[in-house]
Amino acid sequence: MVYLIIGNGPAGISAIESIRQLDDQGKIIVVSKENNQPYSRIMTPEYMTGEVEEENLFFKGNDFYAHYNVETRLGKIVKDILPEQSMVILNDGEKIAYDKLLIASGSRPVIPSWVNLDIKGVFTLWDKVDSERIKHHLSEVKKAVIVGGGLVGLQMARALTAYGINVTIIEKMNRLMPLQLDETASDMVKQILVKNGIRVFLDTEVVSLETENQEIRGVKTKETDIPADLVLFSIGVRPNLDMVHDTSLELDRGLLVNEYQQTNLVNIYAAGDISQAFCQITGERSLRALWPCAIQQGKVAGTNMAGGEERYQGSIPMNSFQLFGLSVLSFGQIEAKDGVEERIIRYPASGSYQKLFLKEDKLLGLIFIGDIQQAGLLFHKHGKPLQEGYIGNIPLVDVENVYL
Ligand SMILES: Cc1cc2nc3c(=O)[nH]c(=O)nc-3n(C[C@H](O)[C@H](O)[C@H](O)COP(=O)(O)OP(=O)(O)OC[C@H]3O[C@@H](n4cnc5c(N)ncnc54)[C@H](O)[C@@H]3O)c2cc1C
Repeated sequence: MVYLIIGNGPAGISAIESIRQLDDQGKIIVVSKENNQPYSRIMTPEYMTGEVEEENLFFKGNDFYAHYNVETRLGKIVKDILPEQSMVILNDGEKIAYDKLLIASGSRPVIPSWVNLDIKGVFTLWDKVDSERIKHHLSEVKKAVIVGGGLVGLQMARALTAYGINVTIIEKMNRLMPLQLDETASDMVKQILVKNGIRVFLDTEVVSLETENQEIRGVKTKETDIPADLVLFSIGVRPNLDMVHDTSLELDRGLLVNEYQQTNLVNIYAAGDISQAFCQITGERSLRALWPCAIQQGKVAGTNMAGGEERYQGSIPMNSFQLFGLSVLSFGQIEAKDGVEERIIRYPASGSYQKLFLKEDKLLGLIFIGDIQQAGLLFHKHGKPLQEGYIGNIPLVDVENVYL
């Protein structure tokens, strides 16, 4: 049996681990555009500014491929997949035949059509090489603009501020992390950024770049000009689908998969950012560019590829991070609509903000800022009734009396 894995991100890596649990004889080949041992791209902002050393990026150590007896083609790109011949073709012309194929090629940043990444000082940050390229430029940087106030944009802003750079975040929507936070939570996040010297423009759109001799000088919004010697775009990602466009694989916004992470072609699976898999919130198949979803989907794909049987339970969007000491966590549905009610149990004046989203007493989502201790416990209660008005062992009514 030959298992071919495209991509060595968390989805590909967890698939390899699952395959090896069931099959220690089959041949596993991994092809990856990136020439690395498996690493955490979540830490690339800290790596960019030197807060994290290179060796600490490699979350599986330095001998992952040897340990799991995996043949590698690192620094190689899959150009074409030929499902009729059960074969892929690499950029150097090599043809690799497979019995089972996993496509786990992840996503890449969206770049507006008017942005030229050849201009000195203009970047996106998605992988290790990006962070190294930005790192080489940092000694010349005093002012940075980050376009996009999502999770990745905020992580970059924190890292650059800690490095001593003046940072401005520009967000087109009326709040930061609009997909994960409500206005109150977003405002608390904004306050901590501002307190740490970061300027935040909401409801503001960057319309062009200011350049001189192919070097960045700043950005133009509809209202004003903002000078900068570094501009980072972080306005979302899209799946790396180039290699599947001319195949009979079923596509929507990503590669459509069933509950076994299997595509419409029986011996081809997909997992991670590229796969459009079942979502517990919408009940539909959605893209979900999140590390834990990639791990879980890779595990399901690997198990099924190696002859086991495991179904993907469906994604629940979940984000958790720390920003200048402020803990932020949200999961599930965070909008009060279609019969979903919201219940605030701690207000910002208490130093923390905690809001639940409930439907017929079942917990569908939450936003916690500050004190997030109970959130882990509550994640496991998603879709279940909360016990008689309690969060963990704290009666909701007491919490309200204390903090209202
Ligand atoms: C700065 C940053 C911060 C983040 N923070 C968080 C966070 O806090 N929480 C969270 O849940 N998620 C976070 N994410 C997102 C998370 O990292 C991704 O969702 C996750 O890495 C997706 O895993 P994947 O295996 O699907 O793809 P990836 O990790 O993108 O790996 C895909 C692999 O496929 C390879 N590849 C692509 N095309 C080809 C090709 N044609 N041929 C061969 N190889 C190819 C790539 O080189 C890459 O190695 C963050 C991402 C970044 C960049």
